[in-house]
Amino acid sequence: MHYSHDAWESVPVADVIALLRKAGVRRALVSSSGDDGQQRLYAAAPDLIIPELRPYRTRGEIGSWVRDESVIPYLEQRLAKYRYAGIGEFHLFGADADLPVPQRMVELARKHRLFLHAHSDADAVERLFRQWPQARILWAHAGFEQPAVVEQMLKKHRNLWADLAFRTDHGAGGKVDDAWRGVFLRHPDRFMVGTDTYTPERWHYVPGHAEWSRAWLSSLPREVAERIAWKNGEELFGSALSQD
Ligand SMILES: [Zn+2]
Repeated sequence: MHYSHDAWESVPVADVIALLRKAGVRRALVSSSGDDGQQRLYAAAPDLIIPELRPYRTRGEIGSWVRDESVIPYLEQRLAKYRYAGIGEFHLFGADADLPVPQRMVELARKHRLFLHAHSDADAVERLFRQWPQARILWAHAGFEQPAVVEQMLKKHRNLWADLAFRTDHGAGGKVDDAWRGVFLRHPDRFMVGTDTYTPERWHYVPGHAEWSRAWLSSLPREVAERIAWKNGEELFGSALSQD
């Protein structure tokens, strides 16, 4: 999820926490354009919020950050001051992954032993693993790829997980899609649900989205559904901030 600067006034911290609790969300991995966003949420509900550090200070940097050297001191300052589960979600495609700024970001993640949360095509994910073979990567939106392509990537990379944020193709009418069902059953420990509050109004959609997620999840074996719903996220990120 994101709690970016343009949401801070229209959906105040207390409202965000209330929406998450109403939705029955157990934990939320939150990154913001303007890192103060999730820091405020985390201060208000440390049991609920898992902060991750985004390389954007404002919304407009999604496309420009890969060539913006000032991103690195920003990340360094925040990493010196706060604790995070990962760096991301960042947008990174193809050969841009090998530009100097993304490479330095990967070095920082390695130094601080953080997850990379990549809104990327498969090519950029491959390049990130070439830079850092031991990286742990959460593939945002499962790359918006078809289930067969996602499965291929999961088989190839042991340290790759995928979130299902801002996708609707994996479930409809309270049932999981057939092609996705096979992939979920074969890789139950590699997926997690996501919402994606990329604009302020999306916060009001969180309880409804949770209901929609519970509906399609209920057509999977309970153990698999629980893994995707919350157990995988808890295992991967739940203890990230308490480790020393
Ligand atoms: Zn995204």
